[in-house]
Amino acid sequence: MGAKITLSADGTLNVPEVPSIPYVEGDGIGVDIWPAARLVLDAAAQKYGRSVDWVEVLAGEKAYTETGDWLPADTIQSFEEHLIGIKGPLTTPVGGGFRSLNVAIRQIMDLYVCLRPVRWFKGVPSPVKEPQLVNMVIFRENTEDIYAGLEVESETAEAKRLIELLHDAFGWEIRADAGVGIKPISKFGSHRLQRAALQHAVRQGRKRVHWVHKGNIMKFTEGAFRNWGYELVREEFSDVAVAWEDCGGDPGDKILVQDAIADIALQQVLTRPAEFEVIATMNLNGDYISDALAAQVGGIGIAPGANINYVTGHGVFEATHGTAPRYAGQDKVNPSSVLLSGALMYEHIGWQDCADDIINAVEATISDGVVTYDFARLMDDATEVKCSEFASAIVDRL
Ligand code: NAD
Repeated sequence: MGAKITLSADGTLNVPEVPSIPYVEGDGIGVDIWPAARLVLDAAAQKYGRSVDWVEVLAGEKAYTETGDWLPADTIQSFEEHLIGIKGPLTTPVGGGFRSLNVAIRQIMDLYVCLRPVRWFKGVPSPVKEPQLVNMVIFRENTEDIYAGLEVESETAEAKRLIELLHDAFGWEIRADAGVGIKPISKFGSHRLQRAALQHAVRQGRKRVHWVHKGNIMKFTEGAFRNWGYELVREEFSDVAVAWEDCGGDPGDKILVQDAIADIALQQVLTRPAEFEVIATMNLNGDYISDALAAQVGGIGIAPGANINYVTGHGVFEATHGTAPRYAGQDKVNPSSVLLSGALMYEHIGWQDCADDIINAVEATISDGVVTYDFARLMDDATEVKCSEFASAIVDRL
């Protein structure tokens, strides 16, 4: 009954009336949060006479139990064919041949952007005084940097060989007992990430983009990322955006593109959050910044995320937290992360009205003090409800 979402020649998505969307329920608390999120996602779609044909695909423990494979080829194939999918958290198999299932999915599908919007919802307990000033979108590069997995372990034959090679070819002195990792940052990888961030800023009417880097120290990797970013602005976006150094900080009605050193940026997102709108950065910086910012607005239980390849049209939307095995099956935890990832997915496929309704209903529920245990323990006068009850309360406010 459903049909596949497809990519048109101009790079936009064709979304059929009833799109088929594959989902992975997720391990641990996946059994709690996915049905809760789906209840809200279905209700929001129904309000506009729409529906989704949800197609279950397997990954993680459920896949291993049923197929003997942690990440069956069918699952990747289904995500690839349907373009857009959603997933709950997955257990990282110990000794399963994977660094992490999430990283594997990102690498196999070349999902080069990790997209993390960070905004505050009224009523959510926050450790900062003015969480309402936090409204940013982070574009984290997903395929390069020290995360590429190019590492050799200390005192192995591989490490000894690499250390010797680097000594002989470059004269580099590295201690004999060092483990060594390689940090590739390419112009190709930087440009496609930065292009996605700039296009997002244009689409969403954002006025500031920051390249966040440690180019003062790592000149030919992080510094190159910064320089390539400005080059891209001049070559491809000069009609809509301008670099700080080309306008003295006065962009007129164009988007102002500037850069910030990562350590200073981590201070400024705390002290001057209103100055940050779109942040594009490399993998490791992006990991730290995403979680640090999420903490300002309520933590990982509520932060949505997605991994996207804007060229092929592939996107896997996901809960940003783990499987919280201690709480699995207790109908207790907060389903907001996977639910808001679903709202982000609706926005991505052009169902902005449904996405807005979900966001408003989540906000209304929390500001009425109806919350799951993780927020209830930080709030005065909250009504603590179960995961499923929280979802019903959101549906009531749609
Ligand atoms: P975790 O995110 O599962 O838990 C960290 C803390 O956050 C715990 O106190 C947990 O109870 C709490 N928490 C998590 N989600 C919550 C929610 N929705 N509502 C309320 N509280 C929530 O991280 P962990 O304990 O380090 O990892 C557990 C497992 O999850 C590991 O196997 C790990 O590899 C995996 N993991 C998966 C992902 C992913 O699939 N994206 C991400 C991180 C960790």
